[in-house]
Amino acid sequence: MDQFYDGVVVGVPAHDGARMLPEALSPLRDLLNGINYHPVAVAVVQYDRPVFRGHTRAVVFSDDHIVSNAGAYGAEDRNIVRYTFSGRAFRENISVTTPIEEMLAMAEADLSPFFPDCKQPRLASVYRYFQTGLCAYGPYYPQFLDSVDSHLSAVSGLALAGDYIRGGSIEACFRSGYEAAERLGAVFRPETLRTAL
Ligand SMILES: Cc1cc2nc3c(=O)[nH]c(=O)nc-3n(C[C@H](O)[C@H](O)[C@H](O)COP(=O)(O)OP(=O)(O)OC[C@H]3O[C@@H](n4cnc5c(N)ncnc54)[C@H](O)[C@@H]3O)c2cc1C
Repeated sequence: MDQFYDGVVVGVPAHDGARMLPEALSPLRDLLNGINYHPVAVAVVQYDRPVFRGHTRAVVFSDDHIVSNAGAYGAEDRNIVRYTFSGRAFRENISVTTPIEEMLAMAEADLSPFFPDCKQPRLASVYRYFQTGLCAYGPYYPQFLDSVDSHLSAVSGLALAGDYIRGGSIEACFRSGYEAAERLGAVFRPETLRTAL
């Protein structure tokens, strides 16, 4: 890094980021390796006829269901349903090897009391299981962030961005990216750029 770049933002999931850090930053690596990720899976199913009707186009389930929510793919795509699988029951009962057919049957069984039209033949479906899908806050997260900060402040031109900094929502991830860029702001001020550049 010293040789080629004035600044680097490591913007990958925590465990991948840990592998990118040099040996000298092994305490920081350990912190990143301690971040907890939960699995999540998504299926998108196309049915022949609309499943959702009227104003209700999505359902959220409690965490004793393996499906956490089911919703129309778009206001005009009510025959296409996106099922998201996450939460405690999903983690405890489902693995990467669970067949998609089984997943869809369980999801439709959960949705059918509210929208019986999901019990119609499927035209097409895609499914993906993400092992490190959703980042989870651990205990004493503010202290964790303070420790990350103190390790980073010892290294010039390094910043971290991603779901484990400000939270897993897309907005929070963007915020962490902006903050990482701001952190490097001083490095990129014209007077601090190396003359070789
Ligand atoms: C299925 C699913 C549905 C979700 N739905 C929502 C939602 O509806 N709303 C919401 O707010 N959030 C949602 N999330 C959460 C949100 O998408 C994530 O928290 C967010 O994308 C994480 O952003 P990130 O920048 O930390 O990591 P990522 O978005 O994962 O970006 C990291 C990037 O790093 C790359 N990368 C990884 N390893 C390496 C490597 N070794 N070298 C180079 N590049 C590498 C990856 O390819 C990826 O492009 C969902 C997440 C999943 C998995």
